[in-house]
Formats: sequence, C-alpha cells, structure tokens
Amino acid sequence: MKRLIAFLLISVIAYISLPGMSLAAGEEWENLFDGKTLDGWVQRNGQAKYTVQDGIIVGTTVLNTPNSFLCTEKMYTDFILELEFLVEPGMNSGIQIRSNSFKHYKNYRVHGYQVEIDTSSRAWSGGIYDEARRGWLYPLKDKPKAQKAFKLGLWNHYRIEAIGDRIRTWVNGVPVADLQDDMTSTGFIALQVHGSKVADKKIKWRNIRIQDLSKSNKKTLKALIVDGQNNHNWQGTTPVLKSLLEESGLFAVDVATSPAKSQPMDTFKPNFAKYDVIVSNYTGADWPKQTQDALVEYMKNGGGLVIYHAADNAFPKWKEWNEMIAIGGWGGRDEKSGPMVRYRDGKIVFDNSPGRGGTHGPQHEFQIITRDRHHSITAGLPEKWMHAKDELYSKLRGPAKNMAVLATAYADPAKGGPGEHEPVLFTVRYGKGRVFHTVLGHGPEQLRCVGFIVTFLRGTEWAATGRVTQVEVPADFPTADEVSVSFDGGS
Ligand code: ZN
Repeated sequence: MKRLIAFLLISVIAYISLPGMSLAAGEEWENLFDGKTLDGWVQRNGQAKYTVQDGIIVGTTVLNTPNSFLCTEKMYTDFILELEFLVEPGMNSGIQIRSNSFKHYKNYRVHGYQVEIDTSSRAWSGGIYDEARRGWLYPLKDKPKAQKAFKLGLWNHYRIEAIGDRIRTWVNGVPVADLQDDMTSTGFIALQVHGSKVADKKIKWRNIRIQDLSKSNKKTLKALIVDGQNNHNWQGTTPVLKSLLEESGLFAVDVATSPAKSQPMDTFKPNFAKYDVIVSNYTGADWPKQTQDALVEYMKNGGGLVIYHAADNAFPKWKEWNEMIAIGGWGGRDEKSGPMVRYRDGKIVFDNSPGRGGTHGPQHEFQIITRDRHHSITAGLPEKWMHAKDELYSKLRGPAKNMAVLATAYADPAKGGPGEHEPVLFTVRYGKGRVFHTVLGHGPEQLRCVGFIVTFLRGTEWAATGRVTQVEVPADFPTADEVSVSFDGGS
C-alpha cells in the first residue's frame, strides 16, 4: 500500500510538472473575454459579424467577405489557452495563435498558426494549419483517434499549449496535434469566421481563458561572452555587448576571458552548460580539446550560440565549429571549406567556385535587406534598412548546413565587394542547438547602430530560448535610406 501511494504521488507530480512549470506553481488563468463586451479584441480582415449574447461570443457568416478574425489586442508568446465552442455543421473556423498582421505582408492579412475547426467529413479539428502562409503543418490524415475527438453539434473543448517551439492541442481531452515549429514565437490570438457561401451560419465561443507562461516563467537568461583573443578590439566591444544584453532586462551576463595570445590555453575551461547562451567574441588560438568537446556537447543538447563578427574567423580547422557557424572567413578557408552562400534571383544559391573565403572592402554604410520577414528575429523589421559604417563581410565559406538566411547586403564592387548579395544575419541549427550569426559590428562604434542592437538582442534571445519576446520595433530603427545610431549604447 505504501508503495502504491508513493507510486501514485510520483505519478501525480510527474504529471503536474509535465505541461509547464506554472501548473506546479498554481494555475493562474486570465479570462480573455469578459462575458459582456468585446473589449480587448479587434476585428481584422473580413466583415463577418461578432456579437456578445449571454456570456457567449457569436460569430456569424456574411456573404462576399473574406476570412474574418476577432483578434486579441495583446500579444502572447508561451501560453496555455482553453476555450469551448459550438459550431454549426457546414462551417469552417479555427483559433489563430501566435498570429500577426503587417502592412508589408499581403496588406495586413492575418497569418500564422491556426488550430482548425473542421465540421466536414474530413474531420481535421485540432490539426494545425498555417493561415495565409504555408498551409497544413499538422493534418490529421490517418489519425483516426484524433479525428474522432471532435463532436459535431455539441460544445467542444480545446486546449492549446504553445511553449517554445512546440505547439500541442487537445480536443475534449484527447491529444491531437504535437507540432515542432519555430517560425513565429509571438503574436495575437484570434477567433476565425471563414469566408462562406452561406450567410447566417453561427459559431459560438465561451470560457476563453489563458495562462500567460511568458509572464509567470519569466526568468533572467544567463549569457556568457567569450573573449580574450581577437584581431579586433574585443576589450572595447565586450563591455558594450554586455551592457546591451543587461539593459534589455532579459539577461545576466558573465564574461570568460581566455589566456592571452601565446600563453598556455589548457586552463581555459568555461562551464558552457551553466548558460542559456554563449556569445563568441573570440578568434585566436585553438581551445583545449576538452573545451571544444564541451561546446559541441552543449550545442547538441540544445544550447544557444551567437557568432559575432570576427568570431567567424576562428578555428578554420575545427569541423564541428564550422558546422555551427555555417560559413566563416580567413584562416586559410577556401573551396575545400565549402561553398559561398549567395542570394540570387529571389533564392539562396551555393557557389562552389574556387577562391579564398572571406574578404571585405573599406568600411561604408550599406543597406541590409530582410529576406525572411516571418522569423522571430526579423518579424516586423523594415524590408530595407541602412546599417552604420561597417565592414561588409563577403565570400564567407563553410559547410552551410541547416542555415537559414534572415538578411543580406549587396557587396558593391565600387566598395571592394564581389557584386553579390551576401548573408549578414542568419541562423544555424546544430543538433538540438540554435546559432544566431551576425557578421556586423567591427568595433564599438558599429555597435551603436540601432539595427545592430535590435537584431543582436533578438538573435541572442532566440539562440537562448528559441523565441523572441522583444517584438516592439523602436521608433528610431533605421530606414531604407537613413542610418540610425544610438548615443547611449542602448536604444
Ligand atoms: Zn572587422
């Protein structure tokens, strides 16, 4: 009996602590709907009718109008959402989560993850569709148990957990979708009424409540800046990077400084595993094997790494390092190191032509083009923005595996460049780990560019956690033709 109780207790504890720590800490539900008004909600896109009746939100189809969305004004990152709905047969609807509406994307078209409400015989309710973007991400084809969870003609209960890069759904308590995807980490929640050929079809929602885990789980992220050797002014840049991270309010920062050049390196053993993210401001002598292995292990297990400017010059012979940084320059890198990565005619191409890896012309202001406007790091940034006078790294080479280019800059032959659009901000997946690589920021002066600051802070948060909560774009963000620099080192 004692053993049974102990077993039950353990099971309960294990169960409670599984879906997110806040449950163990006490459930803190907030109602998204006050039961009387649509305060806190805003309608976007179509003209379907949304009204409140007897503590219920009623959505009604209207002819000749596109998909309509009743959206929360507030944005959510990590959360548990629960609600109930009653839908008329023949209707299609869904719950948008982590969704957005930008002028630059299809003129404010609401887009993002939708937990499907499907009354058709297909029965994909609880599956995950990417509205106005990639289409089905988690269909319920050949998942009969999940397909049977939804009950037509009855009130149905949805539970949606979005935590990190994992989105899970339950329909009437039955697990339905389990999606791993990190395209967008933050956005509003919205109730959809699909465009319809039949007017006056109704869907009702009630008991809409949320646990905002970003709020309750907000912990200070631990960052470690690694420096000590560099052919750049690391003594000048490390304090600026440190204060940027600390002033964001998200990070506590330690610095690990290696022995100086030509000093024995064998004592250099930072404890990477203690940190949420490592920021490398290092290029120089090889680290001891034990330190290299520790970084590889840390990254394979889901660590975060930021490669900042000349850090991608480091360790040309270290295979795993080159896979982590995707592409790098100098140090004897050439065609044997891997291709150059170029943006040509709207897509990324690998250029295997021979030659040295890594070059830059004289410093100049240059325009950065955001190529991925959905990624959490670049969401909401202007398509084009001017970066303060800096070196434009070109012809970087490497294995370029699992690399996603977020932004490029044109390396103009008139400024000593090869006449190609070169990657300047990108991410790399390494094992379970995340790498954010910025080639920007030659010295302390360049770190004052507001574009550098915003992308560095977002990129470091993403590398640490897989998401970005810094969704506001500062008013002084650079524009397509004007540089913007911050004079206090922050923004
Ligand atoms: Zn430099």
